[in-house]
Amino acid sequence: MITDPVCGKRINRGRAHIIIEHEGVAYAVCCPLCQAEFERAPAAYAKPNVGEKVRKKPGRLPYRAR
Ligand SMILES: [Zn+2]
Repeated sequence: MITDPVCGKRINRGRAHIIIEHEGVAYAVCCPLCQAEFERAPAAYAKPNVGEKVRKKPGRLPYRAR
């Protein structure tokens, strides 16, 4: 579960409308309205304790060309 920073709703990460990455933190919003609101004023909604730190997984890095 992750908290929508705009409306405060607790949502299942997989069912979020979209995951927005802002300054290395991922925020899940529940609907297009919350997305628009977040994008309008990200500084007002981006709270690192609400979002999830974006983890850099080694497996997600592109393979190095040899
Ligand atoms: Zn919402």
